[in-house]
Amino acid sequence: MANSHKNGQQPDGRSIETKLTQAGRRPEWTGIPGQPGGIVNPGVWRASTIIYEDVAHMMSARISQEDSRGRWFYGRKGTPTSWALAEALTELEPGAEGTMLYPSGLAAISCALMAVLKPGDHLLMVDSAYDPTRIFCEKVLRPMGIETIYYDPMIGADIASLITDNTRAIFMESPGSLTMEVQDVPAIVAVAKARGITTLIDNTWATPLFFQALAQGVDISIIACTKYITGHSDVMMGSVTATSQYWEAIQSMAWLFGQMSSPDDCWLALRGLRTLGVRLKQQEESALTIARWLKARPEVGIVRHPALPDCPGHAIWQRDFTGSSGLFSFTLKGVDETVRARLIDSLQHFAIGYSWGGYESLALPVDPVNIRTATQWAPDGPLIRLNIGLEKTEDLIADLEQAFAAAFQG
Ligand SMILES: *Cc1c(COP(=O)(O)O)cnc(C)c1O
Repeated sequence: MANSHKNGQQPDGRSIETKLTQAGRRPEWTGIPGQPGGIVNPGVWRASTIIYEDVAHMMSARISQEDSRGRWFYGRKGTPTSWALAEALTELEPGAEGTMLYPSGLAAISCALMAVLKPGDHLLMVDSAYDPTRIFCEKVLRPMGIETIYYDPMIGADIASLITDNTRAIFMESPGSLTMEVQDVPAIVAVAKARGITTLIDNTWATPLFFQALAQGVDISIIACTKYITGHSDVMMGSVTATSQYWEAIQSMAWLFGQMSSPDDCWLALRGLRTLGVRLKQQEESALTIARWLKARPEVGIVRHPALPDCPGHAIWQRDFTGSSGLFSFTLKGVDETVRARLIDSLQHFAIGYSWGGYESLALPVDPVNIRTATQWAPDGPLIRLNIGLEKTEDLIADLEQAFAAAFQG
């Protein structure tokens, strides 16, 4: 099963690239009833109030709220713009029942965790998780009586040794934030399924284009759409896509917390989604070229890129993923942070900024030492994370070359 989509062919016969161009474009969201034809992209439907024909109609809309997808109710429950985006994201994940949208990736993560955990439960959280995910576990879940136990990203089937009667959920992020370890998702899922434990994954790096989490057996797939889905560094958004078993819990928790995404943001995300395939493939190619170039530099220690052989979990990446995206990290061997700062400050084409997944390249000094507890990060020098954008690869390499020269001269 794990490899059934490796050739890019989906169960319904369409490849994911084709789906990216077609998903979510229902005639009722792109046309006028009774008229043939229509627009290509669903428009921006802004709404708070939805107007009803009569009282009976309003009453029936209220009853149909068990599942509001595609039905008018109230602006917070969406309009055709958000329904189209949610449906498109669902279509990209074979095995999915539905997708909820949130005002940020972090909101998607926290709401998904709230949907599957209750006081007394234990959560197994990957040690290389996005730092704000960990902080949510400590500052919100722990005071609620939900304990988080962190595990080595390379644990694989040995996760069984950490499971107790209270273990309710396992959270994965693959590759891990900053340090890029690739997890053995099928092995962890197999253990979880045998014990009735819920699995969640932060799939922001790969997106469904390169890793289809639900097809690999994961129950709940979370994406910070802020990154590659919107792809233009101008929208904050998150999504949670779930199997039928978890869909109701995910939907109801999002509603209870009043989560939604604005129609304008949904429209931008849907527009970004259409070009995800070409953007990511270009970013993949550039990032790999640059990662290999860095690996050959004498100043560089390790390069953490899942498609390079010495990345922890590289063989798993080869087995389970259909590509690599544009985010990776590397160390500067045996120097201190002032050299790192000088290098980053010397870059002309890489901006310094949080987030990633946009069309513009970014360089960031990152220090995972204090955010790992189950494993140790003891590198040979300070770490830099690069987001490779859509600039010409040769320009980026020339820029890095002059920045190395400037940083190591001083
Ligand atoms: C950025 C990021 C998030 C959070 O997304 P926001 O939209 O910034 O809240 C979650 N997971 C990963 C892996 C991220 O890089």
